[in-house]
Amino acid sequence: LGMFDSVNENRISVCVRKRPLNKKEFTKNEVDVITIPSRDITILHQPQTRVDLTKYLDNQKFRFDYSFDEYANNELVYRFTAAPLVKTIFDNGNATCFAYGQTGSGKTHTMGGDFSGKKQNAAMGIYALTARDVFRMLEQPQYRRKDLSVHCAFFEIYGTKTFDLLNEKAELRVLEDKMQKVQVVGLKEEQAMNEGDVLELINKGTLVRTAGTTSANANSSRSHAIFQIILRQGKKVWGKFSLIDLAGNERGQDTRECDRDTRKEGANINQSLLALKECIRGMARNSSHVPFRQSKLTMVLRDSFIGEKSRTVMISMISPGISSSDHTLNTLRYADRLVSI
Ligand code: ADP
Ligand code: MG
Repeated sequence: LGMFDSVNENRISVCVRKRPLNKKEFTKNEVDVITIPSRDITILHQPQTRVDLTKYLDNQKFRFDYSFDEYANNELVYRFTAAPLVKTIFDNGNATCFAYGQTGSGKTHTMGGDFSGKKQNAAMGIYALTARDVFRMLEQPQYRRKDLSVHCAFFEIYGTKTFDLLNEKAELRVLEDKMQKVQVVGLKEEQAMNEGDVLELINKGTLVRTAGTTSANANSSRSHAIFQIILRQGKKVWGKFSLIDLAGNERGQDTRECDRDTRKEGANINQSLLALKECIRGMARNSSHVPFRQSKLTMVLRDSFIGEKSRTVMISMISPGISSSDHTLNTLRYADRLVSI
């Protein structure tokens, strides 16, 4: 368990993960415009046109804590992102891991595991890998003595609404009390005795999340999913790990979208992602003023942004193809704003 000792001292770490080109992209001869020459560098080769109509490549270089190329598997990504934060929740802190990126870039694959085929495989997602290590950590004598129990919650924010994925999408209310404590009223928390229990909860919630959706533009790409592993000592919260599969960041950028509801939806997602950026920046600066009220997403994550023991990791997912390069550049710029604090 040596890896738990190497706790990242930074309050925020920012990583990027490139997925491989898929079959469909291969058959369309899609060009891969991303290179990752070293562990921390990501380069986007963006085709540009000069005024005289000649073409050239504009190389945009970014430096992050880690850059994972298309050969990295979930286990490796996990080991350098969420894994070092497991210790945080045993030290009474809040740990938070975000998956950010355009729809189809690999957020759900990374966080939840693979649900695209017939066979569901949650076991290799960051939700499950985190749970596995939480149970391993509980076995250590210094924590066994503390009588801690593990609980899970799984909910979704869609626009201004919040739904419980462990309770048949029951609508939840988010309230702030006089002490500025935010509560998701009625949110169901299930106790888990082992990793298997957690896998069942992930499968259950993921099915509820995607039920009734058919296309690639399904609802799940327009909602933020929040999976929480809560350590309790008796009734008291000891520490909390929030793992978030964010809504696709391409929404809202495309103002040509003609459907009014779709446009409004996009604006909403955009606003929450902007609020998130400001809150993470506030947290990283140890600022006492974090603008968490600006969106539902940042409201429910308020605890993640405060307290000396909070740690956050952002995994920015990117698609390799040339046709995604505008969205990819947006994703890399967003991540870059979190690095330069
Ligand atoms: P998102 O949740 O960001 O919309 P998904 O996680 O659903 O994207 O990924 C889109 C597709 O790409 C899925 O079929 C998924 O299995 C596949 N995929 C994503 N990332 C990887 C990866 N690193 N390796 C292999 N396949 C991947
Ligand atoms: Mg997804």
